[in-house]
Amino acid sequence: MAIALFGGTFNPVHNGHLRIATELAELLPVSELRMMPCGIPPHRHKKVVPALQRMEMLQIGIGHDNPTLTVEDIELQRTTPSYSIDTVTLMRENLGPSVPLFLCLGMDALASINSWNRWEQLLNFCHIAVSSRPGFSAPKKGPLFEWINQHSCADLSKLGSSPAGHIYFCDLTMLAVSSTIIRDNIKRGDSIRYMAPDSVVDYIQQHRLYE
Ligand code: ATP
Repeated sequence: MAIALFGGTFNPVHNGHLRIATELAELLPVSELRMMPCGIPPHRHKKVVPALQRMEMLQIGIGHDNPTLTVEDIELQRTTPSYSIDTVTLMRENLGPSVPLFLCLGMDALASINSWNRWEQLLNFCHIAVSSRPGFSAPKKGPLFEWINQHSCADLSKLGSSPAGHIYFCDLTMLAVSSTIIRDNIKRGDSIRYMAPDSVVDYIQQHRLYE
């Protein structure tokens, strides 16, 4: 019953998120991929819509009949900033010591992971699955390069049979859509149709978000 966590602000969720989450769930040796909205994003100072609405959009975007994608609200239960190390520590407590746990990140996040709170301890609690993002590459030297080199593993069966400790690089389809593009389109009065599921587009219009 291995689990993958795919964190984000999801302000709002879009087809790029849902497509990559689906590909990750198929690729990784997991039975479930949980999309995890952050409560108070530690690295962002922009105004985001309330957590409850971001979560509702995720839930309706995923749909009710999806056997693999679910929503994890663990970061919404805290009032402090959502540090990944706290999240994976708590997830590990809930899952027990032997269930494989994957934290899914984009290459943009990996490239600056050494600025995260207690980043060196993350692999004590989970594996890290990194998806490529155009314009970003893994560091070529320095302590972060050494850390990545030391823990990198391309053998999925090894990852599926150990609870934590490895970094896996995935080459997945990145759609040319972002939450920023969606918010900007809405502000300009342009359509966002087909950038996110129709149910999410309808929700945004109904609640007059991002106007
Ligand atoms: P914003 O435009 O507000 O910065 P975003 O679209 O990048 O938001 P986030 O919620 O910050 O979305 O992203 C959550 C995760 O989804 C990150 O790991 C990010 O790399 C990944 N992601 C974002 N957009 C895409 C996309 N189009 N395809 C694949 N992955 C994406």
